[in-house]
Amino acid sequence: MCGIVAYIGFRDAWPIVINGLKRLEYRGYDSTGIAIINQVGFSIYKKIGKVSSLEAFTETEDKSGHVAIGHTRWATHGAPSDVNSHPHTSNDNRLHIIHNGIIENYATLKEELINRGHRFKSETDTEVLIHLIEEIQNIEQTDLMEAVRLALNTVIGAYAIVILDRENPGQLVAARKGSPLVIGVGKGEYFIASDATPIIAYTKNVIYLKDNEIALIKRDELLVGYSGEVDQ
Ligand code: GLU
Repeated sequence: MCGIVAYIGFRDAWPIVINGLKRLEYRGYDSTGIAIINQVGFSIYKKIGKVSSLEAFTETEDKSGHVAIGHTRWATHGAPSDVNSHPHTSNDNRLHIIHNGIIENYATLKEELINRGHRFKSETDTEVLIHLIEEIQNIEQTDLMEAVRLALNTVIGAYAIVILDRENPGQLVAARKGSPLVIGVGKGEYFIASDATPIIAYTKNVIYLKDNEIALIKRDELLVGYSGEVDQ
């Protein structure tokens, strides 16, 4: 199992995410990546290897900013590599996803998306999911949370996901089914992680998302709903 750490609030997001990913190292992983809303607008850093390799790689980069998503990957689809590391990005470079788990029907979805003009950079199942969310949002003209909900109803598999929209950086969307996801509630800030260990230093107020729940997370607002039908 790999790890997810994300933050939205008023603190520097980078150290929270990088230190949180280190706390999840015990889960095992092969690569690391972080996307952050910063002074230049947006940056994404991905590196095969340890969290410390990503730290060395980004030593002189702009790591300021108060919204970030971070991931340690345990490769299931596509070999461990910089390109296959998360976050993965939509066709229009707007949406970014981190994902724990497996999208079982990714091959069929990928073929359909390619036929409709999508171009993929990685070999992962995860990249297919973010392209699908983008396509649904464009066709249905919905907000991101609804597009994620609709996309999750067409995928088969297990997931904990967090999505960042660089054109709407004041919110994150998270969802889970079959993989754990925890939200730490602060005052004017939220922490999201695969388990509570990266969060407990900041807040004792944690919510464990249930299967089929989807969350819209803003600095000062949390909305949780169902992403689809509950399994019988
Ligand atoms: N299936 C995804 C991949 O291979 C996510 C694996 C994970 O849980 O780290 O990239």
